[in-house]
Amino acid sequence: MEKSDRHSRIIRSDEPGFKEACMDTLFNKRRPAYFPEILYRVQSVEDIQEAIRLAKAEGLKVSVVSGGHSWSANHMRANSLVIDMSLFDSFSVDKSRMQATAGPGCKGHVLMLELVKQGLFFPTGHCKGVCLGGYLLKGGFGWHSVELGLACEQVLALDIVTAEGRIVHASETENADLYWAARGSGSGFFGVVFRYHLRLHPKPGFIGMIMHTYKLKHLDEVVHWMMGLRNQISNKVELKLSITQKSAVIRQAGIDVGAFVFADSWSEAKAITDFMRNSPIKKKASIRSPLVPVPMSKQYFLTSLHYPDNYRWAVDNIWTHARPEELLPGIHYLMDNMPPHPSFIHFEYWAGADRKRQDMAFSMEDEFFMSAMAAWTDSDKDEHYTRIVTEGMRMMEPFATGTQLADENLNHRTAKFMAMDNLLKVDEIRNHWDTDKLFHEWHSRPV
Ligand SMILES: Cc1cc2nc3c(=O)[nH]c(=O)nc-3n(C[C@H](O)[C@H](O)[C@H](O)COP(=O)(O)OP(=O)(O)OC[C@H]3O[C@@H](n4cnc5c(N)ncnc54)[C@H](O)[C@@H]3O)c2cc1C
Repeated sequence: MEKSDRHSRIIRSDEPGFKEACMDTLFNKRRPAYFPEILYRVQSVEDIQEAIRLAKAEGLKVSVVSGGHSWSANHMRANSLVIDMSLFDSFSVDKSRMQATAGPGCKGHVLMLELVKQGLFFPTGHCKGVCLGGYLLKGGFGWHSVELGLACEQVLALDIVTAEGRIVHASETENADLYWAARGSGSGFFGVVFRYHLRLHPKPGFIGMIMHTYKLKHLDEVVHWMMGLRNQISNKVELKLSITQKSAVIRQAGIDVGAFVFADSWSEAKAITDFMRNSPIKKKASIRSPLVPVPMSKQYFLTSLHYPDNYRWAVDNIWTHARPEELLPGIHYLMDNMPPHPSFIHFEYWAGADRKRQDMAFSMEDEFFMSAMAAWTDSDKDEHYTRIVTEGMRMMEPFATGTQLADENLNHRTAKFMAMDNLLKVDEIRNHWDTDKLFHEWHSRPV
C-alpha cells in the first residue's frame, strides 16, 4: 500500500476494481469461493463502529481481515461486509514494563525486528507478513513458542469493538469471558480487535540453527528418526522437517531437517543440539551445516523463501502422535501428487499434548504437527490441487487428533480444532456478545 493511500475507503461489489481490491487483501491468490458485498478499510475506531452500523443497515454479516494470511481466505464470505484492519499497524514498546501494544495489522516480523534491537523478544509468526490480527486469535505458533508458550498466552488484554458497536477492554479482570474466547477461537471470534496488549520477553542469548539435508529417498528413515526423538528435545529447540521437491540446500527433492535454537548461551545451544550431531542417520545427509548463530532478520529471510508471493495455495494440517508407518503413506501420496516447488510438507515436533496451558479457548495440540502446503500459479488447477491436499490429509485423518486453526482448511475438510467443552463455551460467550450472530464463524465445525 502506498503511503498516500493510507486512508479509509468503502468499495462496493458493483464498483470497478472491487474484486481486485478484495484479492489485494489476500496472501493466497487461489480464487475464493465467494466475494463479499462491501469492503471497508477502516482507519479509526469510529470507522469500525460505522462499518458495523452499515452492515446492519444493509442486512449483511461481518467478517474481518487484518493481514489476510488466512490460507482459506476466511474473510471472503457471501452477503458480507469485510472490515479491513490493515491500517491498524502501529505498535509501541515499553521496555521498562516489558510490554507492548500493537494493532492487528502490525506485521509480526516488523515488531520482532524492533524488539530484538532493544534486547527484547515476542513469539511472532515465522514468516514475513503474518499479521498479529489473525495470528494471535488462532493461538500463534511463533519463534521460541515451544519454550515461551503460544503467542496468545502473551496477550495480556485486548481492545475490541463488539457487535453492538461498543468499545470494550478485555483482560483477566475485565470482560474475562471475551478475553478467554479471544485466545484461541481464531476465525470464530465475534468482535473486532483493534489493539493487543502484549507481554514481552528478554531476547535469548543465542539464536541460531543447525541443519542436515537429505535426499528424498531417505524420507522414511528421516521421519522415523524425528518421531523417535519424542521427549528428548529441549523446549528451546524447534525441530522441523521441510519435505520438498527442491531443497534450497541441495537444489533437488529432499528433506531439510532444521533445529532452530533459542538458548541462553552458545554452550547451552551446543548441548541441546547434540541430538543432531549424534544422529544415527546423519551420515546419509548430503549436507550437514554446523550450529551457527542466525540473526532474526536472516531467520525471516530464510523462512520466507518457502512462501513466495503471488502463488495460489491449498493448505491443510493435522495434530498427531501417530506412528511413522501410519503417516508415511499420506506423506508419500502428497509428495507424489502436490505441485512442484515451492510446495512442501512442514512436519514439526511440538510436544504440546501434556503442556500446562492457560485457561482459554485454545485447547487443541499434540506431539507432532504437519501441514501440507501446495502452491501453483495456473488458475485451472485450483480445484485439482485443493482436492489433492484435502485427500492427503484425509488419508492421515484416522491417525490425527485434530487440526490447527493457523493452517486450517475448514472450507474443505471439517476437523476438530478445539476441545468440545471449549467450543460450547465459545458459543455461549458468542450468544452473549453477538446475540444476532452478526459475525461469521469458522467455515465448518465438528459436530
Ligand atoms: C506465509 C504464512 C506463514 C505463516 N506462518 C505461521 C506461523 O509461523 N505460525 C502461526 O501460528 N501461523 C502462521 N501462519 C498462519 C497465520 O497465523 C494465520 O493465517 C493468521 O490468520 C494470520 O493473521 P492475519 O491477520 O494475517 O490473517 P487474516 O486472514 O487477516 O485473519 C484471519 C481471520 O482472523 C480473524 N481476524 C483477523 N483479524 C481480526 C481482528 N482484528 N478482529 C477480529 N478478528 C480478526 C478473522 O476471522 C479473519 O478471517 C502463516 C500463514 C502464512 C500465509
